[in-house]
Amino acid sequence: MQGAVSEHMHVVEKLGHSPVWVRNKGDLEAIRALIIPGGESTTISKLVELNDLYGQIRRMGQSGFPIFGTCAGLILLAKKGDGEVKRTGQKLLGLMDTQITRNAFGRQRESFEIELDVGKMKNFPCVFIRAPAITKTFGKCKPLAKFEKFVVAAEQGNLLATSFHPELTEDTRVHEYFIEKI
Ligand code: GLN
Repeated sequence: MQGAVSEHMHVVEKLGHSPVWVRNKGDLEAIRALIIPGGESTTISKLVELNDLYGQIRRMGQSGFPIFGTCAGLILLAKKGDGEVKRTGQKLLGLMDTQITRNAFGRQRESFEIELDVGKMKNFPCVFIRAPAITKTFGKCKPLAKFEKFVVAAEQGNLLATSFHPELTEDTRVHEYFIEKI
């Protein structure tokens, strides 16, 4: 809909798969997994609703369809938001057992890069841009990476979420990890 779509498509292509830019319901039928990119989560949720995709994506996620959310995508996947999510009234997909906070790292560190271990992936170059973070995981959600007091990557069965942008690096391991879920 909006945000770092072409960067993700580039990585998917590089890994030998055929990316489809999802804009309407028909596109959802043509795919075997979905990536919700970084961007502006309020805009993405508005466009998802405007294009009448909200219910279908939610049902797909609930019934085991693989969905990977990066940055704004991590916000949309969450079950619980923060005060900012309440204030803007943005609608979350409510799929992952996570509570998130938007813009978790403050204004002074709007964007930065740091190497972190993400599950079994050692020293992954994590690019954070006005990034959200997971403040709480519950239920079936498994944290995969931590930075400061936050969880910055997590998975829950078919669902994967990162606060950072793996599509903005040359390292394709996180995308490969997601594709293995399909
Ligand atoms: N700060 C953005 C939001 O809250 C997310 C930033 C990003 O996706 N790079 O929607």
